Amino acid sequence: MEGDIPSTVMCAVVAMDTSNFCYRVCALCEGTVSDNNLCRSCSGLPGSKRSYRILLSVAWETKVFVVVCFDRVARVLFGCSADEFFDLAKLNPLAVVTAGKVLEGEMFQMTFTKPKKGNAEHLRVASIVPLSTDFCPIAESLKEIYRVGSSSSIR
Ligand SMILES: [Zn+2]
Repeated sequence: MEGDIPSTVMCAVVAMDTSNFCYRVCALCEGTVSDNNLCRSCSGLPGSKRSYRILLSVAWETKVFVVVCFDRVARVLFGCSADEFFDLAKLNPLAVVTAGKVLEGEMFQMTFTKPKKGNAEHLRVASIVPLSTDFCPIAESLKEIYRVGSSSSIR
């Protein structure tokens, strides 16, 4: 199916997979780390940071398909680093679900790269441009919704 999809499309986000939005990478080279935070690629000191890996269902013409956004692209959507968003999500357990709601229905121009490995499941988003001029990155929207830092938040 994915062979039919052009490399650049204007599409709408149908849903975000909220079960898992990030993974840990080496703080030095961004390689994958083992369970005990040791890098598999460089012999750097143990140390890791979070990196986004977001699965989005998007609709284009009559198709709905899943694409994957890695760190650089996801930052456009989130407006902060994966570590910062993780902290925000710790304060607000519903932050990830709300993030999905913020994205739902938003229109984007997305450029895809074909998965390098033949067995990769999803198209990878190489660049993303919000089509709405008043698109507000998720972190901003959440601060607006939750009024982070304010004790008067009721919602
Ligand atoms: Zn490394």
